[in-house]
Amino acid sequence: MARPRSRSSPPATGRKIVDLPQSSTADLDRAFETARRAQREWAKTPVRERVSILRRFHDLVLSEQDAILDIVQLESGKSRVHAFDEVGDVAVNARYYAGVAEKLLAPRTPRGVLPMLTRVEVRNRPKGVVAVISPWNYPLALAASDALPALVAGNAVIARPDNQTALTALWAIDTAERAGLPKGLWQGVLGRGSVIGGEVIARADYVDYTGSSATGRTIARQAGERLIGCSLELGGKNPLLVLADADVPAAARIAVRACFASAGQLCESIERIYVHDAVYERFVGEFVNRTRALRLGTALDYSYEIGSLTFPRQIDTVAAHVDDAVAQGATVLTGGRARPDLGPYFYEPTILEGVRPGMTVYREETFGPVVSVYRVHSDDEAVDQANDSAYGLNASVWSRNTARAREVAARIEAGSVNVNEGFIAAWGSVAAPSGGLGISGGGRRHGPEGLLKYIDTQTIAVQRALPIAPLPGMSEALWAKTMTLYFGVMKALRQK
Ligand code: NAD
Repeated sequence: MARPRSRSSPPATGRKIVDLPQSSTADLDRAFETARRAQREWAKTPVRERVSILRRFHDLVLSEQDAILDIVQLESGKSRVHAFDEVGDVAVNARYYAGVAEKLLAPRTPRGVLPMLTRVEVRNRPKGVVAVISPWNYPLALAASDALPALVAGNAVIARPDNQTALTALWAIDTAERAGLPKGLWQGVLGRGSVIGGEVIARADYVDYTGSSATGRTIARQAGERLIGCSLELGGKNPLLVLADADVPAAARIAVRACFASAGQLCESIERIYVHDAVYERFVGEFVNRTRALRLGTALDYSYEIGSLTFPRQIDTVAAHVDDAVAQGATVLTGGRARPDLGPYFYEPTILEGVRPGMTVYREETFGPVVSVYRVHSDDEAVDQANDSAYGLNASVWSRNTARAREVAARIEAGSVNVNEGFIAAWGSVAAPSGGLGISGGGRRHGPEGLLKYIDTQTIAVQRALPIAPLPGMSEALWAKTMTLYFGVMKALRQK
C-alpha cells in the first residue's frame, strides 16, 4: 500500500516543494524504540561530551546559515530578516545551555534531617524520550531551541514538526548528527497533529508543545491522562503601552518590528497598542508612516522586510478579523488588503483604529499583520486595558523614565514584559525564563527552567550511625520530647 503523503508548498508561490511521507503507527513504534535504546547509552555519556556537541552544532548553524535561511524562507514564506532571527535564537540557546548544563545537572547535597548523621544527595535523571511538538511559524527556533536542553540533559527527542515546515526540522536533526549527536537520539516523525499527535503523546515520557491555546488544552488532557508532564507554550494577544513620556520615534520604530515580525505570525508579536493622549497623534502618525514604508516581497536575500503569510487559513483569518472590524465601524489607518500581485498569501501590514469590544479582533489572537491602536488617558487606564485579556504572554512598555516603566511593567499580567523594546530584549535574554500566564500556557523555556523541566530528581538519603528512631530502651514519649527539644534548638540556631 502506498504510504500517505502530505504536499508541502512554498507560500510565496503556492507551488509544490516536496511530498512528505507521513509516519504510520509502526513508524512511531520504531522511532520510539530506537530513541529509547539510544537514550540509555546517551544518559551514561558525560555531560561535558554532550556539551561539546551543542557547541559544534552552534558553529554549524552559524556557518551554514545560508542553507537553512533558504529552507526556512521557502517553507514559511517569511522574509530573510525574520528567518535570521531564528538562526540567532538557536545559536544563543546552544551557547547558553552548553555553558550551564554541567552546573545545572550536577548532583546536590542539601542538609539531611539530622545533620552529620543523614547524608542526602539529589541526582538528576533525564525523563527519557521527550516529544517536541512544534508549529510552523518559527520552524527552526521552535524545533531546535527546545530540543537542545532536553538532549543535553540526557534525553532523546522525538520531534513532530508541522508538515508545512518539516524540512527545516529535518535539517536541524541532520546538522546535530553532523555535530556528533548519536543517530536515533533526535528523530523526526511526520504527520498532522490531529492524526498523530495523540499517538506521539501516548509513547512519550514528557511533552513540549508550542501552538494555539485551543490545541494546548487537548495536549494537556492527553498528557494528564497518562500522568506525564507537559510544557505548554501557547498563544498571545500582546499589548504595547506608550506612556506620556515615551521616546515616541523610538517607540514607533520598534513597534513596527514588534507587530510585523514574520508578518505578525509570532506568538510574542504586538496586536494591541495603548497610547497616552499626550503623544497619541505623534505616535500614530509616525507608526503609520513607518508601516507604509515597509517593503513586501519574496527573495532569498535581505531586500524585503515583510514576507508572505504561510498558508490559506492564515490569510482567511486575517481578512476575517479586518473585515469584521471594518463592518462594525473600525477605521483602517494603513493596509487592510491582500496583495495577490505579490503572492497568494500576502497581506499588507494593517493598523486599525476605533476597535471596540464585540469586534473579533478586540480579544482574539489574529496571528497576522494586524494591530489595533487605542487612546488612553493615564497609566492606570493603560494597565487596565492591557490586562483585559485571557492571554498573558508578552508585553512592552515605553517611557523615558525606566523606574516608572518597570513599576508599570510589574502590574502587567504577562510572563515577559519588555521596557523600551518590543519582544526581543526578553526573548533573546535566554538566561531568563520565557513563557506565559493565563491561557498563554504555564510552560517555561530558556533559563534553568528550560532545562530542569526535562529532568526528574531522585533523592538518596544515607543514614549513618544512629537510625531516626528511639534508642533501644527509650520510650516513644521520651523520643518525642527529645525531638521537640531538637526542633527548638534548630530554629533558635536559624537552621533551614
Ligand atoms: P495549532 O494549535 O492549530 O497548531 C500548532 C501545531 O500543533 C501544529 O503543528 C499542528 O499540527 C499541531 N497540532 C494540532 N492539533 C494537534 C493535536 N491534537 N496533537 C498534537 N499536535 C497538534 O496552532 P496554529 O494556529 O497552527 O499555530 C499558531 C499558534 O501557536 C498561535 O496561537 C501562536 O500564538 C502559538 N504559538 C505560540 C508560541 C509560544 O512560544 N508561546 C510560539 C509559536 C506559536
